[in-house]
Amino acid sequence: MAELHVPVVIVGAGPTGLLMSLLLAQHGTRSAVIERRKSPSLFPRAHALNPRSLEICSSAGINLNEIRKRVTAPDNARDVRFLTRLLGAEVGALPYERQDEAVLELTPTPLVNIAQPDFEEVLLAAVRDNPLIELWYGHEWRAAANMGVDVRSTIYDQRRSTSFELASDYLIACDGANSPVREALAIPMDGVGQIAQNVNIQFSSSGLAGRLSDRPAILYWTLDPEATGTFIAYRLGENMVFAHNYDPVAEPPESFTPERCRELVSAAVGDPSVEVQIKGVSHWVMTSQVAQAYRSGRIFLAGDAAHRFPPAGGLGLNTGIGDVHNLAWKIAAVQRSWGGEALLDSYERERRPIAVANADQSMINVRRMSKLFHTFRRLWDDAKGPVQEGQLREELSEQIEAQREHFDSLGLQLGYSYADGVGRSPQNVSEYIPSMDPGVRLPHAWVERSGERVSSLDLISSVAFSLITGPSDQQWRAAAALRPLTVKVVSLGRNFDDPEGDWRKLSGIDESAAVLVRPDGHIVKSFKSDRNAVAALEAELASALGLPSFVVAGGHAAVEARSQARN
Ligand SMILES: Cc1cc2nc3c(=O)[nH]c(=O)nc-3n(C[C@H](O)[C@H](O)[C@H](O)COP(=O)(O)OP(=O)(O)OC[C@H]3O[C@@H](n4cnc5c(N)ncnc54)[C@H](O)[C@@H]3O)c2cc1C
Repeated sequence: MAELHVPVVIVGAGPTGLLMSLLLAQHGTRSAVIERRKSPSLFPRAHALNPRSLEICSSAGINLNEIRKRVTAPDNARDVRFLTRLLGAEVGALPYERQDEAVLELTPTPLVNIAQPDFEEVLLAAVRDNPLIELWYGHEWRAAANMGVDVRSTIYDQRRSTSFELASDYLIACDGANSPVREALAIPMDGVGQIAQNVNIQFSSSGLAGRLSDRPAILYWTLDPEATGTFIAYRLGENMVFAHNYDPVAEPPESFTPERCRELVSAAVGDPSVEVQIKGVSHWVMTSQVAQAYRSGRIFLAGDAAHRFPPAGGLGLNTGIGDVHNLAWKIAAVQRSWGGEALLDSYERERRPIAVANADQSMINVRRMSKLFHTFRRLWDDAKGPVQEGQLREELSEQIEAQREHFDSLGLQLGYSYADGVGRSPQNVSEYIPSMDPGVRLPHAWVERSGERVSSLDLISSVAFSLITGPSDQQWRAAAALRPLTVKVVSLGRNFDDPEGDWRKLSGIDESAAVLVRPDGHIVKSFKSDRNAVAALEAELASALGLPSFVVAGGHAAVEARSQARN
């Protein structure tokens, strides 16, 4: 067998794998993405891309306008609705996440809804344009060995019907919820293995958009016990999914023929005269699990391979994006010798607790929702059939109100922290309070750079540590220049302005204060003054890079050249 070598092998060209390759390429690290499908999956699953994911995409160089071109019309995605059937009585509604003007004070990129294949199309275009990434469709990862100095993967080329060996320094398993890599490593999962069996039916219906024009929503929950489920309106009428859970003993998956699916969707729509065209059917098992380990030697798990949540809260794909954002710069740092080996262990310590919190919240959302369904069924059973709309509204209003967190998790999305090297999620799921505490994401404020209004997040480098200083920056610049790796120094007054005073108010960074930020935008430390700038910077950088102390590292020259060119 011929041996090939690539620095990083990524298994899986889902959103997590594609983004990982782009983030690594930013650091100049080559990768090969191995995908067993012959072409991208066109079945829509995720719809919510949260603010942090969009911030990360932007920092990875992805043109957000390409995403925005493909999103669900915002006016159609502001609410979620609870109904008897889709065209039946509306029992209640809640706002869907924070899409108002006020949220622009907290993030430059509020949540959008986009069908997962459309998001992947944007990532794919960027991957295909990138000379540092090889993307191999029709290739299946089968096994890995030799995890001492490198990883030797056996890859099966479906077109040629042959296997070959591919060596890499690291392997990142982005191979989805049933991860063959995780299975091969025998890494157990913690949590609940089988909550429900589901079928997702993708359909279009030319008649629906008009009928729903006075009640647009991104999600519609149909509560009628004879037609329970969720409609996801990626594009109202044009591209929709009906998600329905069922008992596989009573109804085996094969029984969901296109005809049966049409019946199911029609029943849930609630008007048989509405035409429905079935476009695809997908079966999946709802679980709430997190892998016990995220690392085995040179192999790392990310995305659904590391955690699989119920799709109740839009946290699955978004958590995967957070994983690779945390991991990519660490792999690059260790590969290029400016980070210590310990840095790679910090990935699991920082990311696993976030996944556990998100899995727990998704389960809470599922339980609250099933309580609502049960209450509806009880009312239905008591009435021996349809219940008056007024009575439904009255009896269910409290329980619908109890679903609010399910559709408002800004706290979880923006507020997680890596303080002291351990991942932590805020107690309050919905509330995000900006802070300059170590470990949190650098908060967003609108500032001005070369006359342009930009976010404070745009000031930092995605390939190097950054130091945002007050106007008295001499000591900081001198200290940063002494470091064996590039630290991008950005000074108020010199590199950016704060005409409204928002940044100063939020950060407290004035005069000779400064904040040190990692390449993934998380704060290492805020310094009150530049006294002992050299020692302070040295200690914090060494600790953030998993080094016992600062040593001149071999790879820094390349990092420096690239980051200077970029910034
Ligand atoms: C109905 C539904 C709604 C959802 N809604 C949301 C939402 O609103 N927001 C959200 O954040 N998340 C949502 N999710 C979850 C989201 O779809 C997943 O979290 C996301 O797809 C995970 O991305 P991934 O790249 O980790 O894995 P995947 O997208 O599953 O990609 C894994 C890839 O690995 C490939 N692969 C597997 N094995 C091999 C192998 N041996 N060799 C080569 N390739 C291999 C697969 O073919 C696949 O392409 C939803 C999920 C469902 C089912």
